[in-house]
Amino acid sequence: MRTNGAATMNSENFSLSERLVSASYVRQGSQARRGHEQLIRLLLEQGKCPEEGWSESTIELFLNELALMDSNNFLGNCGVGEREGRVASGLVARRHYRLIHGIGRSGDIAAVQPKAAGSSLLNKITNSVVLDILKVAGVRSVSSCFVLPMATGMSLTLCFLTLRHRRPKAKYIIWPRIDQKSCFKAMVTAGFEPVVVENVLEGDELRTDLQAVESRIQELGPDSVLCVHSTTSCFAPRVPDRLEELALMCAKYDVPHIVNNAYGVQSSKCMHLIQQGARVGRIDAFVQSLDKNFMVPVGGAIIAGFDEAFVQEISRMYPGRASASPSLDVLITLLTLGTGGYRRLLKERKEMYTFLAEELKTLAAAHGERLLHTPHNPISLAMSLGSLEKQNQKAVTQLGSMLFTRQVSGARVVPLGTEQTVSGHTFRGFMSHSAHYPCPYLNAASAVGITRDDVALCVKRLDKCLRSFGREKRDQSGPEEPSITESSVTEADATELNTTEPCAADTEGDSSH
Ligand SMILES: *Cc1c(COP(=O)(O)O)cnc(C)c1O
Repeated sequence: MRTNGAATMNSENFSLSERLVSASYVRQGSQARRGHEQLIRLLLEQGKCPEEGWSESTIELFLNELALMDSNNFLGNCGVGEREGRVASGLVARRHYRLIHGIGRSGDIAAVQPKAAGSSLLNKITNSVVLDILKVAGVRSVSSCFVLPMATGMSLTLCFLTLRHRRPKAKYIIWPRIDQKSCFKAMVTAGFEPVVVENVLEGDELRTDLQAVESRIQELGPDSVLCVHSTTSCFAPRVPDRLEELALMCAKYDVPHIVNNAYGVQSSKCMHLIQQGARVGRIDAFVQSLDKNFMVPVGGAIIAGFDEAFVQEISRMYPGRASASPSLDVLITLLTLGTGGYRRLLKERKEMYTFLAEELKTLAAAHGERLLHTPHNPISLAMSLGSLEKQNQKAVTQLGSMLFTRQVSGARVVPLGTEQTVSGHTFRGFMSHSAHYPCPYLNAASAVGITRDDVALCVKRLDKCLRSFGREKRDQSGPEEPSITESSVTEADATELNTTEPCAADTEGDSSH
C-alpha cells in the first residue's frame, strides 16, 4: 500500500472488497479505475501523445505501475551488485517516482535494462510520444528520435562525434555564424575546426551566405568537411538559415547536415524549414532543447532524424547509462498537456509574438527608434537603439543594467563593436551575428509560455527606462531614480546579464587551454 493503493486492485482484490463494502459500490470503483487503465492502454498501444491531457491521478497511477516493475522496488529483492538502485533519501526517491535505475545500458542509451523493465518502458514511451509531438509540430516525415539527458550543446557534440566515424578524413565544420557560445563550443569540444561563414545583410535581416558556404565546401574539399551545421531559432536580426538551399547543397556534395533547432519546435516556421529541407535535400539530424520547447527544467535535448539507422548510431555512441529525469519530466508534461494543450500553447505564443511586435513598434516610434524588419524570424524581435546611442555613448549598456535591475529578464541589449574570443576564434561585433551590423539594438522574444502580462510589463518598464534617458538629456540631472541597486550592478555585469543572455558567464580569455 506504500506506493499506491489502487495499484494493487486486480479483479481478485475487487471481489474480496465486496465482502467489506457493498458490491455495487465496488463495481463503480472498479469501473472508475478502468477509465484510467483505458487511457494507459491507448498510450501503450499507439505510442502517441493523447489528444486530451491526463489528470494527475492517471499519470501517478501509470508512473507507480512502472516503478513497481523495477528491481529496486521488488518486495523480495536482495541486491549484491554495485548499482542496485538504492536511494538514501525518501525525498529523492519520491522526486523520481521511485524510478532509480536511469535509462540505457553501458553500450547504448536506448537499450533495455534487465533490472529495470519499468524505466526501460518509460524511456521507450517517452521517445515515442516525443516523436509524435515533433510530427504534430510540423516535421511530419521525422522517422526516429531520442531524449538525451544533456542540453543542446553537448547533444550537438554527440552528433559530430558520431559523424567522425563515418568521415575519418574530415576536420572542418562549416557553420553560418550565430553568436551563441554553446553551439560554437559543441564543434570545438568534438575536436573539429569551425569554419565561420559570415551572414549577409538583406534589408535589416542577416541571412545565410549560400555562395560562401558552397565556396568553402569546394575549397576545403567535401571529404575534409565533417558537416554543415546550420541553425533555425536565433536572435533577430539574424533569421533562420536557408535550410532548403543548404540541404540541397549538402546532397549535391554528399556532405552531412546537422541542424541546431534549439528552440525551434515551438515555431511552425522553423519546423517547416526542417521538413522542407529533408524533403528536397539532406538533413542528417536536428537537435532541440527540452526546456526551451516544453517548459521543463534545463538538462535535456532531443536528437531526431530521418534515417533510423543514423539516429540509432548516435544513441549507441553514448557511453554508459544516463539519467531518466529529463525523459520523465517531458513525458509527464506532454501527458498533462496532451496534443491539444501543446497546440494551444503554440497558438498563444504566436499571438503574443504579434502583440509584442505591435507594442515594440509603437514604443520604438515614440522614442525615435524602429522595430527592425525581420519577418523571417518567427520568435525573436529587435528594436533599434541608434538614436539612444547618438544621445549618449554609454546609454546602450546602461539600458541593459537598468532593465536587469527592473527585473526584465531575457531582454538583451546588443551594443556595436563588442569583440570576443571564444575557444580561440575572435568574433568581431560579437552578439550581433555580424562584424558590421549597422545599429545597436534590443532583443525580445515571444517564447512558449509567455503571457500578455509579460509583454505588457516589459514594454511599460522599457518605456520608463527610455524616457528617463530623454529627461536626462533635457535637464542634465542624470537618469530617473538612479537607485542604489542600479549603480551596484557594474557595466560589466550588465553586459553579462542583459546582453549575452543564453551564452553568459565566462569571459573567454581561455583560448590558451
Ligand atoms: C540554447 C541554445 C543552444 C544550446 O544551449 P544549451 O545550454 O546547450 O541547451 C545552442 N544554440 C542556440 C541558438 C541556442 O539558443
